[in-house]
Parts: sequence; structure tokens; C-alpha cells
Amino acid sequence: MKHRAVRNALAGLCALVLLPLFLTAQTSPESFLGFKVGADRKLADYGQIRAYFQKLDQETPKLELLTIGTSTLKRPIIMAVISAEENMAKLEAYKAMAKKLTDPRSLPAEEARKLAKDGKLILLITCSLHAEEIAATQMSMELAYRLVTSDTPFDAAGVLKDVILLLVPSSNPDGHQMEVDWYKKYLGTKFEGGSMPWLYHHYAGHDNHRDWFMFNLPETRAVSRVLYHDWFPQIHLDEHQMGSDEARLFIPPFMDPPVPNVQPLVWRGVNLLGSNMAFDLQKNGFKGVVHGRSFTGWWIGACDDTSWLHNVFGLLSEMASVKLASPITVEPTEIPKPYAQKRMEFPDPWPGGAWRLRDIVDYELTLSMSLIRSAALFKEEFLLNSYRMSKNSVETVEKGQPYAFVIPAAQHDYPTALKMLDILRFGGVEIHQALEAFSADGKTYPAGSFVILLAQPYKPYVWALLEKQKYPDIRTYPGGPPVPPYDNAGWTLPLQMGVACDPIERPFGAKLERIDVTPVPAIAPPAGAPAYLVLDARTNASFAVAFALLKDKAEVFRSKEKVSGEGFDAAAGSFIVKNSPSVQKALPALLEKWHVPAHPLDDAAAIPKSALKNPRVGLYQSWWANMDEGWTRYVFDDLGVPYVTLHNADFKAPKKDKDKTKDPVKVDLKAKYDVIVFAGEDYDLVKNGKIDPSHPWARWISPLPPEYEGGLDKEGVDNLKAFVEKGGILVTMNDSCKLAIKEFEAPARNVLEKIEPTKFFCPMSILKLQVDPLTPIGYGLPETTPAVFSGTPALETWMPTTADWERKVVASYPEEGVLLSGWLLGEEIIARKAAVVDTQYKAGRVILIGVVSQSRAQSHGTYKFLLNALLYPEKDR
Ligand SMILES: [Zn+2]
Repeated sequence: MKHRAVRNALAGLCALVLLPLFLTAQTSPESFLGFKVGADRKLADYGQIRAYFQKLDQETPKLELLTIGTSTLKRPIIMAVISAEENMAKLEAYKAMAKKLTDPRSLPAEEARKLAKDGKLILLITCSLHAEEIAATQMSMELAYRLVTSDTPFDAAGVLKDVILLLVPSSNPDGHQMEVDWYKKYLGTKFEGGSMPWLYHHYAGHDNHRDWFMFNLPETRAVSRVLYHDWFPQIHLDEHQMGSDEARLFIPPFMDPPVPNVQPLVWRGVNLLGSNMAFDLQKNGFKGVVHGRSFTGWWIGACDDTSWLHNVFGLLSEMASVKLASPITVEPTEIPKPYAQKRMEFPDPWPGGAWRLRDIVDYELTLSMSLIRSAALFKEEFLLNSYRMSKNSVETVEKGQPYAFVIPAAQHDYPTALKMLDILRFGGVEIHQALEAFSADGKTYPAGSFVILLAQPYKPYVWALLEKQKYPDIRTYPGGPPVPPYDNAGWTLPLQMGVACDPIERPFGAKLERIDVTPVPAIAPPAGAPAYLVLDARTNASFAVAFALLKDKAEVFRSKEKVSGEGFDAAAGSFIVKNSPSVQKALPALLEKWHVPAHPLDDAAAIPKSALKNPRVGLYQSWWANMDEGWTRYVFDDLGVPYVTLHNADFKAPKKDKDKTKDPVKVDLKAKYDVIVFAGEDYDLVKNGKIDPSHPWARWISPLPPEYEGGLDKEGVDNLKAFVEKGGILVTMNDSCKLAIKEFEAPARNVLEKIEPTKFFCPMSILKLQVDPLTPIGYGLPETTPAVFSGTPALETWMPTTADWERKVVASYPEEGVLLSGWLLGEEIIARKAAVVDTQYKAGRVILIGVVSQSRAQSHGTYKFLLNALLYPEKDR
């Protein structure tokens, strides 16, 4: 990537001649790009940014450009390492010192103090994860340039002796390029600076900031590898943007509530660094800086928040946005009162007026430089803090802290449990496996069970991920409406993934072995050539194998009852595959990939079963960048589900056909698809292509160019109805259930529609469902299943009044004990209401999945509601 050796040799040979050249040779971003960073209506695209950093890499020994991963759409994810020249030759040694400081078990205090003295502070700055929050990507070039040329308000050369800056110009390169291309396309039109009609991350869009414990996305993995496997930075700043008319900038301290597992020293350090930023900004006359509002210390699975749980000082900056790169003005009267008046957390309001990209860049340069300077000022202290907090994690037992979590060897879906262990290990968690049976808290666990001891350096992370959350009941005023959390209230990983995981209170003895790779069982196809093979419906991986075999034209059935054979008991709905030469050929690789056994069965004649066919699946995608659709696509791609994306136009006849005749022209969707899926989305956006003007978000939504206007409209809905009437399966998920209720008049209503938050309130949380696993949509699920509730309906069904309809409640909320993790007010309103309903409408079906069954590709425990709808047994339709 570079010719450091050659350059060093040249520098050595001709130091006297070349040195002055090196000092003056760095190209400024302005001369490289041909415009000043942050100039109105000017954006550097990802290729230009990368090329600029490559140029700096060649021009200065203080910067080295690394590639830390490859994005979803195969762009290199770059990171610049910036430090004093003498440090650059010893980066590996400094990384090793930082790593050592995170594990007190092998580091005496005396040695830790020496490491803190000799080591360098490693500071990570990540930019523009949310690609439309674009200023920081642009700013990163100028920040790097000014650091290497010492054009800073402090002695940069001195500071860089103590600090190694890791600068990621874009944590989402694909999104950055999409935004720049979109912006340039509509520059000078009335759509200039408007939002794109698709997600700015191929799968996740804005939700790429919720992936930092599940690590679904390669971008998340790249940055997390830097954080917890490679560089072990002590401080991490993630730079974002927010709405336009309140504060100019949010920086920490964060507001209430804190996630309880984070060490208090993290908050103190974060507050110190945030206050220093505010101080430096104020010195330089920057107005409108706020702390302690909007952004909470509750964990949302985001980038900087996950750092807190790893004892890293994680900071967030949120700048007021412009229209991508186009300036805006804010009328003074449009600034909400809390941002127009002086407050202790907001002492210098911004008066309103013009606001441009360069303003954002200037604030961000100042706050970034402030942090770099603080990092140097407190270098030794912060390195030692890294050690102090790890020591605390390992040695201190806190109130309510369990001794361990045990993941029993017997699991409903074992491959998914292994996946969970993989994810935990990637997050830096230490895992043990029991070599012999043991008892803990009065329960016996077999050999092979997994044990996660809390006494480990990343204890806060382990604890927060595995325990059940109890979000504090915070009200606007006593007896008033609840104050919603910033995002989710509960996330408990084992509940989301459907993995059994027991907290163990009391210490216990067991023969444990630390595992550094997840022990995946070697699975081979059964010996001989049994007539049939059985894949247990309890395992998500069985569905992936079934999809692959169906694609391969294998004969696959679903059993209507439990299937037993030699050495196995499989659930109702299990896949019975007729053995054949092509199945035998495909099977070894499939079983190895999915770690799922195929059980032998000699005779299937007596088993009630229905044939399956490879479903032709259509997935609806609106022009409103729906994240739930993106995650559904992710799950489909991950499990090998075949599908095509459908847009509004696919539900309607082409205009040229309509021009030929006055009669209505129908589109025969049934001729092309067996199942059409609507991910969770606002009904008005789907049906009408616009949001109800009374919706709280209505003011934030910019109009789309004409080619993206409209929704399904009446014509699309009529064709969708005809699709179901002819035998198609319509799947509506979460808030899309309203489409089935309102347009199809399915025999169900949402009891939560228009309910007051004082009566019922449940921000994203995990609730308990009772499932009927003997019915096709419930196949393979446990009778008690945790499910993600978020903007979700609760359904009241009734006996249909016409022969057109029939309904079966697949899952419902229990009488009591509904909340498993998070926050729920008004349990009695949803108790005994339906969550998932399978209805028959004429020759087809409308499936209402009234939970977030594939939430952010995290809720593996409820994927089966959706997968079952795709593999609905033929004869039962
Ligand atoms: Zn953001």
C-alpha cells in the first residue's frame, strides 16, 4: 500500500536535502479537491476521500492508511493512523501495551503504572456511520491535514508524541457514495438535499447504529475489530448529526437514565472529556452547544455506547444538520423554547439564521481537536483508568451481579445457541465449557454446557447483554405520560435469539475449559442410504437447508405431527426430505455449513405430511427507505431464501397497457408469486405513498422526485386482493398488519390503535408469547416464546361472519407476566390478545405477524413465524 521502507531509506540517505520537502510537501484537501472542505453544495465522494488519505500517507511519515475491512457492497473501509513519526515505527508495541492494560489478571499494578507512563493513548474517531450525516467524512480530511502540518491551536507535534489517533473517515462507505451520487443527481433541482428513496446502508440504513452487539454487518465488524481485538483504544468518539432547529451541537454528558452495568468511572471520564470540548468550543465563540439532553446513557446497541460496556470512554457528537451540503436558514421563532433560553446545560443559545456545511465542519474540527488535546493532557491517567476499570470488572462484585451465566448444552435450537456464542466472543467475551456435569444454584447441568463467568475484563458487556433489562419508569411529571427512551428499553440477547441462558447467583465448582473457538459439532449425513431424511423444525438452520434443497428440486414435505426415529424426536412441522442422488450430493456441504443434523427415516408412509414447493417470494419495498424491509432482506440473504423485490409499480398495470383500453387492466400477481411479504411499515406510506400530515414525523419528510411518488394505491391493493383470492399468501408484519385489517377487512382489530400513552406504553421491549406449535405458522417454536414488541399491534380476533374468512390464533400474550425485558405499562390491555394470526381468505391466506419477528436480524428466536409463512404446506392451503 505504501513504500515506507523506500521512503525511510531515502530519508536516511538524503535527510538534509529531503527534510524541508517533507515538511512542506503535504497537499491540502482544498488543493487536492479543488474546493474548500465544507463549501456550499460541494461534497467529496468516497473515492476522492480515500485518494486524499492515500496521498497524505505518501507525503508524511506521521500518517499511515490502513484498510480495516470491506463494506457490504465491497468497498475498502479505511482508517488513518496518525501519530508522531517516532511512534509510527512502534505501533505494534503500543497496541500490545494497550491490550495488556485491559487484563489485570496478568498485570501487576506496578507494571500497569509503568505501561501507563510508557504507553501512548489510543484515540479512535469514527465518522458519519449515518451516511446522510455527511459533514464528518468531509471534515476528516482537514483534521488529518491540520494535525500532520501542525496547523492546530495547540502544539500538535507535542500532542502526537502522546497520542495515536485512529481516524475512520467513514464507517459506512457504501452509504457515503450513495448519498453523494444522489445529491449530485438532484443538485439545482427542487429535490436538492432531499432524502434518498432507499436505505443508506444496503441492509440496515439508520439501524446500522443498532448492530454493535449482533455484528451482522461487515462495517460493524471492521470497527469492532479495531476496538476489541486489535488496537484497544481507551477513548472513542463517534461523530453524527441531528435535526436542524434545536441545539447546534450535542456532546456529553449524556442524560438519564444510565444503563446500570456501565462503570461509573466511564461516565466521569466521558463527562470530563465532553466538558473540555464544550470549554474549547466556547473559548472559540461556538454557540448553541448543549449537554444532558436528548441522548441518554441507556444502551441502544450503538457504536459509542458499546464502547462504554467495554470500559472505553465512548463519546457521541451530534451536530445540527443542513440539507446534506446545501445551506439552510432557521428563523429565530422556529427554535423551540428550551433551545432559545439560557440554561445551565445550554448557556449560550444560537440565535438562528444561516447554517451551512462549513459551520458543521468548523464545530467538528474544534471538538475533535479538543478531544485529541485532552487525550494528550490526561494520557497517563486514562491509560491507567483502562487498567483500573478492568481490575474493577474482574475483582469487584456489584449489587445484583450474578456469579455466572450458564448456557445449558440442551437447547431448543442448538446451532442458534452456537451462533450466540460466536457473537459474544466477537464482542470480546470469555467463554468456558464444562468438561463434566455440575450443579449450580441447585440445578444440574450436563457436560458440554457453556459457562460465562462475570469476573472478566468486559464484565459490563456480558452482564448487560445477558441479563433482563428493567427500564426505569420515568414520567414527564408525577402521574403524567412516560418519557420514552431514545430507542429500545430491552434487548436481552438470549431472549431475542431463543437461547436458554440461566443467571447463576452463587459461586459453584465445575471443571471448566476456556474455549477460543466455538465448538461446532462435525455433522455428516447419516450412514447408508435411508429413504428419507428429517430436519428438525425447531432449528432455524433446518429452514436454510430446506430452502437449499427445494431450490435443488428435492422432494420436501412438512410433517403435521412430531416425528420420532432412532435417536431423534423432531417437532411438528419438521422437514421430511426424500432421499435421492442429488440430495446425497448436496447434503454434506449443507450440513457442514449450517451445523444441523439430518436424521435417517426409513418409512414416512404413516406420517401425516404435506408437500412443499420452492416458494416464489416477493418482498415489498416502498420508496421510503424502510429499515424493517432491509433487515428482512438481510435475513432472507443470510438463510438463502429466494425472493424478488417488489415496488409499487409491480402491483399495477403499466401505463401503456392502460392507454390501450378503457377497461381496468389487472396484474396477475399469482402467476408470478406464491407469497408476498410486507415488512413492518406505516400504513399510509404503503397505501398512499405519503404520511398522514398529523404524524409526528410528517414535517421531517422531504418530497421525493416524481418517479418515486405514490404508494400501492387502490389499484395495487385490488391486485393484491386478487392474488390472495386466487390462493396467494400475503404476509403482513408488525405495523403492516394494518394493511390486512384496513384493506382486507381481516377478522381482527388492533386494540392499541390510538391508545393514550398513560394507559399503555411499551417502547421496544421483549414480551412473552404463548404459541401453538402444532399449527403451520407456529411449527418449530417453543410453547413459550420471547418476542420483540416495537410499535406493534395487539390483535383482537372474532368468529368471521362470512365463509370467505377463517382464522387461527397462532400466538397470544399470556394472562400475566407479559414483560420479559424492557418496559411495559398497561399489561392488562394486551393480556390474552393475539400477536400472530393465520387467516384463510377465500383460496389464499393472510398471515398477520404482529411482532417484530426478524427485528434488526437479532431476534432469531422468532424468525420461524416468518419462515413458516414462506414454507406453508401445500395441501393445507
Ligand atoms: Zn446519526
